[in-house]
Amino acid sequence: MATHHLLLLPGDGIGPEVIAEVKALVAWLNKRGGEHSFEYEEGLVGGAAYDAHGKAISDADMAKAMAADAVIFGAVGGPKWDGVPYEVRPEAGLLRLRKDLQLFANLRPAITYPALADASSLKHEVVEGLDILIIRELTGGVYFGEPKQIIDLGNGQKRGIDTQVYDTYEIERIARVAFDLAGHRRNKVTSMEKRNVMKSGVLWHEVVSEVHASEYPQVDLQHMLADAGGMQLVRWPKQFDVILTDNLFGDMLSDVAAMLTGSLGMLPSASLGAPDQKTKKRKALYEPVHGSAPDIAGRGIANPIAMIASFVMALRYSFGMKAEADLIDHAIAAALDKGLRTGDIMSEGKTRVGTHEMGAAIRAEMDRLSA
Ligand code: NAD
Repeated sequence: MATHHLLLLPGDGIGPEVIAEVKALVAWLNKRGGEHSFEYEEGLVGGAAYDAHGKAISDADMAKAMAADAVIFGAVGGPKWDGVPYEVRPEAGLLRLRKDLQLFANLRPAITYPALADASSLKHEVVEGLDILIIRELTGGVYFGEPKQIIDLGNGQKRGIDTQVYDTYEIERIARVAFDLAGHRRNKVTSMEKRNVMKSGVLWHEVVSEVHASEYPQVDLQHMLADAGGMQLVRWPKQFDVILTDNLFGDMLSDVAAMLTGSLGMLPSASLGAPDQKTKKRKALYEPVHGSAPDIAGRGIANPIAMIASFVMALRYSFGMKAEADLIDHAIAAALDKGLRTGDIMSEGKTRVGTHEMGAAIRAEMDRLSA
């Protein structure tokens, strides 16, 4: 039997409210027994950590994050900490986690549950049953490349410079994440760049093709120019399984894909690092895309599905628990099918529920589906 060690970092605002539903899921899985069990510790991050330690995350909690099999993160921030010094602002805790754990791969799934297909701005048949995964390189490319500056040309003109730069190893490691994860899904990767106008795109195309040919010939690989990819994402997104792309294009394409699915309260994410040489396990942090939602915090009305779906990603990608991940996904779909809705996804004729009621309904569906 494998015991997985989690670090839960609830953070601020609705963070602790939605993390409570992860704890309930962990209890459900542990009670059911089987080959996997979970232990967890909790830590402070964001404003909560600042209030306790004067830092956005303490060194002790960073050490716990380094040692954990996966970090499950709620959300940070809120008006209470608007005036704190820049280096210890709530977001600094998340940035330190990403940096110290070297999380270079950002995973953003776009899943449209059948019951919510009408909430999308696209036609029902275009998004119903959609399940794609965007893998964005997170630590390189034009957001970090040097030189990065604005220079005064001395003739009344200025010049703004950003540098798009990728080395072979950066492309190789993100390509491996995409091919590995495609193996857990429908085995198809579409790599997107702009090799028609960018040298970094030429190299990206070349390196992805080499990694594919030498290590993952069994995966179906396609290349697409990133602009055409954006068009195809809104034309017929179901043609994709895993989309592999760089930091800049990934930033835009993942937001486009997010809007295919409706609400912020439904969107999970994960960030992964390199596999450990010995254990082969990757460092990993799982978090909802949404923030701490101070406008609704403390009222028990936040949608817990983005958080629950982030935990499902941990089951799938850190622990290889596909059956359990599928079970929870089906239970979410079933709770939505019954017409249960938190305020953010509420529509006419549906039943409005709170955070805990939605979590409990999902667990009740898990009981039913696994009976
Ligand atoms: P937000 O995502 O917190 O909220 C945007 C809107 O969506 C709000 O109206 C909120 O009520 C709603 N919303 C968000 N999640 C929801 C959920 N699960 N259920 C129901 N409704 C939900 O973004 P914001 O308002 O721009 O930022 C609020 C705070 O969160 C700020 O301090 C910001 O810096 C921080 N933030 C943190 C993260 C993070 O922790 N990763 C991400 C984004 C924003």
